[in-house]
Amino acid sequence: MIPFQEYTINLGLMISFIYLTSLFYKNFLMNTDQELKEVTLVFIASLTAWVSMYFGIHLNESVIFDLRFVPLIIATLYATRRRYIIWVGIGTGLMRLTFGLTSAAMVGFINMILLTLLALIIAHLARAWPYRRKMWTVVLTINSLNTLIIALLGVIPLMEVLPLLMFTIFPVNILLSLLLVWIVKDMIDEHVNKLDLMDKAGKDPLTQLFNRRVFLRYFKKYSSHRDRFPLSLVFIDIDHFKKVNDEHGHIVGDMVLQHISRLIAGNLRNVDIVSRYGGEEFVVLLPHCSEKDARHIMERLRKIIEENGFQKHDITIPITLSIGIATSPGVEPKKLLEAADQAVYLAKENGRNRVECAGA
Ligand code: GH3
Ligand code: MG
Ligand code: MG
Repeated sequence: MIPFQEYTINLGLMISFIYLTSLFYKNFLMNTDQELKEVTLVFIASLTAWVSMYFGIHLNESVIFDLRFVPLIIATLYATRRRYIIWVGIGTGLMRLTFGLTSAAMVGFINMILLTLLALIIAHLARAWPYRRKMWTVVLTINSLNTLIIALLGVIPLMEVLPLLMFTIFPVNILLSLLLVWIVKDMIDEHVNKLDLMDKAGKDPLTQLFNRRVFLRYFKKYSSHRDRFPLSLVFIDIDHFKKVNDEHGHIVGDMVLQHISRLIAGNLRNVDIVSRYGGEEFVVLLPHCSEKDARHIMERLRKIIEENGFQKHDITIPITLSIGIATSPGVEPKKLLEAADQAVYLAKENGRNRVECAGA
């Protein structure tokens, strides 16, 4: 007889855990550091395994059949480092011991350690395998070894339980493992696709800097709260860029834009928002940066560009920038963009290759 009730509860709980983990990941974990992210996921995996045991098929006082190995399968498929597979395996094994320190629990613990060793071997062998091959191998071998260990380690009355083990638990476990792995894969694929689309939609394809839309979103956010003040906004315009196109063609013009973008982004902080506003114009948001500091940083950048013109084969193209800075407080936050733009015009009027500040 198939233990429908236990399997239904186990499956329902696992799906709920997977869904809640993905919600939790997207809302809280995604932007934390890698270590914290993975430690939390290992904890959730062990907890899921515990719940699976709690609602598993309690064959007698000490023997439990359940889906505790599914988190290990998922870790084998997705963990970025081997040690997380080990943690999920040991975590699950330890969870088994919380149901009483019986000999069956010890066998359960040893079972998990052996399954973890198998998982590690597969993860190693399958490094370059296509996903499907790896997935089928992990699901089939972990389920087979699990069933074999239960049958051979002498904690169950084998002859009585063999038909249940062979014709129900083994095939149903494989089916449910496949179903759960499929759900996880679908969620991860959706998430990765979404990030990829967001990335593409937010970046300028030529320079890989943020595009104007993303910049405006940050500008609105940063200028409406004082928590990033003093906030400096910098407008950068390449001098006589039309001449570069006229003399060397648009292809070289594009390469010059890429070169300048790399130099701008590479010489600012990670927290600065660097974007291509359009054409040969860039805007940069510098949070927690006074006018004096912004002028210092931009003078340095201006010199770097002046000294590192574009070079390819036998072509050398000197490049200079006109830079305008506006800072809040001082300039009204909503008028930062306009004020920095006017400061660029001032830099052009005053001879180009200069930095000017709004209201200076
Ligand atoms: P100024 O010093 O006054 O800023 O002179 P300028 O020549 O840089 O300014 P202008 O606005 O007259 O010309 C900007 C040029 O930038 C014109 C346009 O062909 C070129 N441009 C804009 N976007 C791109 C691009 O994506 N690729 C290339 N190659 N050129 C571009
Ligand atoms: Mg321009
Ligand atoms: Mg220009």
